[in-house]
Amino acid sequence: MSDTTDTIFGKIIRREAPAEIVYEDDLCLAFKDIHPQAPVHILLIPKKAIAQLADAESQDHALMGHLLLTAKRVAEQVGLSNGYRIVINNGPDGGQTVYHLHLHILGGRPMQWPPG
Ligand code: 5GP
Repeated sequence: MSDTTDTIFGKIIRREAPAEIVYEDDLCLAFKDIHPQAPVHILLIPKKAIAQLADAESQDHALMGHLLLTAKRVAEQVGLSNGYRIVINNGPDGGQTVYHLHLHILGGRPMQWPPG
């Protein structure tokens, strides 16, 4: 499947673009961010091409829950036992640059608050 809503993450799902994949199941895929903002920086994406969180619908209820629980599982898998941050950037003001929904899993250093 390739359409006008396709992004680099769609290509990674289809293995048409390379990525360091750390987790995969039927519904989602996790891989290392190409420009890490922390010692550990992983992106977790649904295989369903939802452009942004604002486009998620009630039918995506279970998928959204699965993504959060999978983020926790991936964080444990990569050894973030001292904590981590989950980030979803939504839309231009949210700083989103790739329009395929993704959760950032950041860890390996203390995080600052508030974010920029
Ligand atoms: P956003 O700014 O949309 O929340 O996050 C997009 C993220 O995707 C950025 O952290 C960026 O570094 C990452 N990214 C962009 N292109 C690629 C790519 O081709 N491969 C990987 N692994 N990460 C990418």
